Amino acid sequence: MTPRIYVCTTNPGKLADFALGLAGISLAPLPGLRQIQPPEENGETFEENAASKALYYSRYSEQSVLADDSGIVVKSLDGAPGVYSARYSGEGATDGSNNALLLTNLAGREDRSAGYVCVLSVAQSGRLLHTVEGSVGGWIVDSPRGTGGFGYDPLFFFAPLNRTFAELTPEERLSVSHRGNALRQLARLLKNE
Ligand code: IMP
Repeated sequence: MTPRIYVCTTNPGKLADFALGLAGISLAPLPGLRQIQPPEENGETFEENAASKALYYSRYSEQSVLADDSGIVVKSLDGAPGVYSARYSGEGATDGSNNALLLTNLAGREDRSAGYVCVLSVAQSGRLLHTVEGSVGGWIVDSPRGTGGFGYDPLFFFAPLNRTFAELTPEERLSVSHRGNALRQLARLLKNE
């Protein structure tokens, strides 16, 4: 049976979140996704990037497609890394090199507050159907803690649970995260269609 929505990401962390957060809605990776040239991500906001990714990939299927643009916004760095979160440390960036640069850039700064933002867009045949945004606040610890999650999770401390996102179980993380929040909004919209 054709799934209801094709997801347009190869990021295993995002895929795991989608499967948990949209349980009950049949999902599959967009067929041939790895062979499709990824679109340029040159929007100035998460919303622009999520919408343009969803519209771009919707040309490759008649089914609805789901795209995510997300990142971490650090107040004392004027919102950086923001939409550049995945490539913060430049060409060939890895989670490790991005985290190391973030710690370097925050060295000596008192305000270590940060927020994750996730925008999800669903499009079909060149038409945008839904866009939702979720966010969560926290702060950046001095050194990585925990082995779960991905990206900046070992540095992102969530005070209400007294742990970094990398120290939470996937279910705990999704219950409070930016992506979990956005997925719950999207699930409600999809259920009402
Ligand atoms: P995108 O693929 O352009 O949306 O890049 C998102 C980047 O933001 C990821 O590569 C991570 O570095 C970071 N990011 C977004 N969401 C999360 C999350 O839930 N946990 C950790 N890092 C995240």
